[in-house]
Amino acid sequence: GVPLLEVDGLSVDYGLKGVSLRAIDGVSFALGAGQAVALVGESGSGKTTTAMAIAGLLSPNARVGSGEVRYRGNRLPIDDDAAMRPHRWSETSVIFQGAMNALNPVHRVIKQIAEPCMLKLGMSCGEATARARELLELVGIPADRGAAYPHELSGGMRQRVMIAMALACRPSIVIGDEPTTALDVITQAQILKLLGELRSQLNLALILITHDLSVVAECCDHVMIMYSGRIVEDGTVAEIFAKPNHPYTRLLIESIPNPASGKRIIRPIPGDPPNLMNRPSGCAFHRRCPSAMAVCATEVPSLDTFGLGRVACHLHQSLTQEDKVAAHA
Ligand code: SF4
Repeated sequence: GVPLLEVDGLSVDYGLKGVSLRAIDGVSFALGAGQAVALVGESGSGKTTTAMAIAGLLSPNARVGSGEVRYRGNRLPIDDDAAMRPHRWSETSVIFQGAMNALNPVHRVIKQIAEPCMLKLGMSCGEATARARELLELVGIPADRGAAYPHELSGGMRQRVMIAMALACRPSIVIGDEPTTALDVITQAQILKLLGELRSQLNLALILITHDLSVVAECCDHVMIMYSGRIVEDGTVAEIFAKPNHPYTRLLIESIPNPASGKRIIRPIPGDPPNLMNRPSGCAFHRRCPSAMAVCATEVPSLDTFGLGRVACHLHQSLTQEDKVAAHA
């Protein structure tokens, strides 16, 4: 059958002071109903642009340069705000980071959850309030707490309210934009666990955007690593952690502090993070890559199937070539 979501050769450019900067370059992947994928990368990697494009929430200075996004096989008008309106929240919704800014401080939270039910689902005020109480319970907040104003709730509770709002119109896809970044470690784990539970309970497809590879295992089964606007590796969480194939992924995994092994210090990856204004030629990672070869500075490695996932690295492309030669000898 047709996948729920297909991102096909998507490129997005930002116009900035008369210059056009390519934020994402030829991003392709598919997501099935109920699947959960983490989009991992540093700032400038294009993970947020990819996710906002899918939700039709690109900023006004963004332009789709090539490619398209299909939902249940139909092309989405991602660069047309008005045309996306019927889709947004009802089919694809977003949990934004920083609930304090996203919630309205002067309205009780139950009202903020009920509102989309009235606007989008055409419910009466009474029906919407009943639905909002259900949603509060669903995200682990006693329904009576819905009378609270945002500032009366903890950060974790506010983030749960954001999740309830994202679920209000029964979407098939939920995008979490660094949904736990502002929270302490314990609350962060609880929220990720909740997302994982809601995903299986409601058969949601989940796209988790994060810079932190250590949080993905809690609620995702697939990982896509982005670097400088391109997917450089993807695969299942288990495979990526057990056997990362891209040098960048390897460094990301090595930089995760691991209290069990006594490694508590984050070892940052040497060199500057990707910069849209000045993307290196060839493999954009070549100036930071411990395995870089001459070809890496000139040729962009293509994202090829490798094992059960995909990887974009000349190391593996040359290996594959050698393997082919060996097989013919
Ligand atoms: Fe490193 Fe070259 Fe692979 Fe890029 S293509 S990750 S520079 S080895």
